Amino acid sequence: MRYCSTRGGVHGWTFRDVLFSGYAPDGGMFMPEMIPSLAPATLRSWSSLSYQQLVCEVCSLFIPEQLIPKHDLEALISSSLSRFSVPDAVRMVRLKGSLSILELFHGETLAFKDLAMMCTARFLEYFLHKENTRAIILVGTSGDTGSSAISSVCGLNGLDVVVVFPSGRITTVQERQMTTHMEDNVHVFAADGSSDDIDVPLRKLFADLDLVKRYGLMSLNSVNWSRILVQLAHFLYAYLQLSDIKKTEGDCLPDLEVVVPTGGAGNITAGCIMKQMGIPLRLVAMVNSNDIVHRTVQSGDFSMAGSVQQTMAPAIDIQDPYNMERIFWLLSGKDGALIKDMMEQFQRTHRLSVPETLHRKLCSVLSSGSVTDEGIMEAMVRCWEENQYLVCPHTAVAVWYHYHCPVLPEQKRCCIATASPAKFQGVVEKAGLTLDLPEAVRVLETKEARCKDLGRRENWEAALREHIEAIGAARQCGEPFYASAN
Ligand SMILES: *Cc1c(COP(=O)(O)O)cnc(C)c1O
Repeated sequence: MRYCSTRGGVHGWTFRDVLFSGYAPDGGMFMPEMIPSLAPATLRSWSSLSYQQLVCEVCSLFIPEQLIPKHDLEALISSSLSRFSVPDAVRMVRLKGSLSILELFHGETLAFKDLAMMCTARFLEYFLHKENTRAIILVGTSGDTGSSAISSVCGLNGLDVVVVFPSGRITTVQERQMTTHMEDNVHVFAADGSSDDIDVPLRKLFADLDLVKRYGLMSLNSVNWSRILVQLAHFLYAYLQLSDIKKTEGDCLPDLEVVVPTGGAGNITAGCIMKQMGIPLRLVAMVNSNDIVHRTVQSGDFSMAGSVQQTMAPAIDIQDPYNMERIFWLLSGKDGALIKDMMEQFQRTHRLSVPETLHRKLCSVLSSGSVTDEGIMEAMVRCWEENQYLVCPHTAVAVWYHYHCPVLPEQKRCCIATASPAKFQGVVEKAGLTLDLPEAVRVLETKEARCKDLGRRENWEAALREHIEAIGAARQCGEPFYASAN
């Protein structure tokens, strides 16, 4: 199994090299050169596997035995998923009106990113240990990515994590999930600006190839293929749990509709790959009023709005759903030249009209919808009233679809729950609902916190560079490195 770029300029990379990279050198995104198919008989033979076993089966299709032998892979995944608060790391909940919800938020930071991030961090540690080297993870975050990266990396060997968050623009729970880690490989910075502002110095640091090489500087956002890979298992698990595949025979498989709250489009990309692998999924990408993905599916209008709108579902307040490039590539029949033209135009002008053939393909694979803040609250309230079951505002975007597009009696549908409502207490209260805060959230208030203030300074880039160099220097002489508390 080798990897190539969606823009056609890179071929033959190994999983290891892709794992340690962000964008491909030609500006594209990494994808497997070949998408394996799963035979109906294979799917049936997996139908009673646990979530954890499914993650393992899926990963072993894309990570060759020579890179990580299967028993090592099993051990890595098992330790990645060991600290989740429900037995199989995820949970399927069945509610009234044929509404099934796949809860993916039982990791430490209470959002679905923990699942793929935990596994990815262990994969990194595995190779770093084997190669006796180190890496520094640098992420800017508008909410869930930073805390999940910290929770996944803290305490691992060979890795440091540097996170920059927009001061005052994330929830208290999100902030404290980042600042209350005291491990010496965790370095948290608050910057007085928006997450777009923070993006500027980070891009400059990543563009400094000397710095990147010297310190093994890397990102852990969903540009990273490994995050998408682990997420394939969400769709496989949902399918095997809900489709009654066991009761069927032959090549004809029942289908399942999966409704996905969508931001950077990593999760929905995993769904599209699973569909290409042979699982009959009907995929629905649901967004809030930041609706570029919805417009693209509806009319081929892949163009950015003037600015990001702040909504009640902040983790999907996204203007550039960068993983769409992977979906375009898949659906174009891996046409690197076409994707390169399209995406370079999009990067230049922030707008693109998807070619008609490709758009037709997109509509045949995805449907979509866009939900306002009122719609989010309406879905949260209705779900509570019918089931005494509280959903987070992102999950509500998917549940809204369920209430507005009723499922036919013979059809099966699954809504993906991407975060716990406990992370979004303010929205829950606005919707007129109440919430029992879980212990994991209540203890955050009493914990000691530390982070460095980057302020409004012009030179965030210099400050971060200095810090990265200091981490590198301390690691070289084998000393622990403490970010001086502020
Ligand atoms: C990151 C995130 C999403 C969006 O996931 P993508 O894979 O980027 O589309 C949705 N909901 C929550 C709670 C998230 O943290």
